[in-house]
Amino acid sequence: MAATNTLPKPTATRARELAARLDAVKGRMARACQRAGRDPDSVRLVAVSKFHPASDILALVEAGQRDFAESYVQEALPKQDQLVGQDILWHFVGGLQTKKAKAMAGRFVLVHSLDTEKLAVELARRSADAGMLQSVLIEVNLGEEQKAGVDEADLADLAGQVLALRDDGVGLDLQGLMCLPPVFDAPEEARPYFAHLRELRDELSASLDAPLPHLSMGMTGDFEAAIEEGATIIRVGTSIFGPRPRKA
Ligand SMILES: *Cc1c(COP(=O)(O)O)cnc(C)c1O
Repeated sequence: MAATNTLPKPTATRARELAARLDAVKGRMARACQRAGRDPDSVRLVAVSKFHPASDILALVEAGQRDFAESYVQEALPKQDQLVGQDILWHFVGGLQTKKAKAMAGRFVLVHSLDTEKLAVELARRSADAGMLQSVLIEVNLGEEQKAGVDEADLADLAGQVLALRDDGVGLDLQGLMCLPPVFDAPEEARPYFAHLRELRDELSASLDAPLPHLSMGMTGDFEAAIEEGATIIRVGTSIFGPRPRKA
């Protein structure tokens, strides 16, 4: 056996469990789309794999899942290396740090969590150095108790700055907005946040004359409400993988 072949094989039992969970989530998505009169292909399911092993990701790839998201660069890059050659689109949904921007360049199809001009400038510079256009979403802070995300009052300024960081096919490509509302017991309580993010996107798109097609909103506890309110990307961890193991 080649020593370089480190493909992390899941057990058959775990692979079956993950495939069944994935199917159940897709069924719930399809029903939410039907209720909202939306085309099921208009919502992309991103499996949030943070803290879960590469073997779980491989099982889900074999079950047809293609989009995965990570929250920590130091965890994401080794997993990507373990799974190199697999048909995976990697997303980044965690807190950004300027010192990690260089290592991130070219590693993620979409960064969901851009929230400051400083990060935008650094990510644009590193992406341009790598000769690429990095697709990004701006994370909006819709709840007082949150740290991440730009305040609503500063959103239009930041969006304008990000749009200006696209230069000759390199830099940043702003595709829309992301939010992470407070976690509620009842998903209905999250619904107004989703509706609000959509309004913010619509206003911004009109005022900046930019398409901004994507709304990344909805997680395990509330993704159906998010779909009904216009999510184009949902980020689901626990419903697909089960509870997250404690951070190593
Ligand atoms: C962990 C995480 C998720 C997934 O959360 P679940 O409740 O397990 O579905 C979604 N979005 C972000 C930004 C996350 O950090």
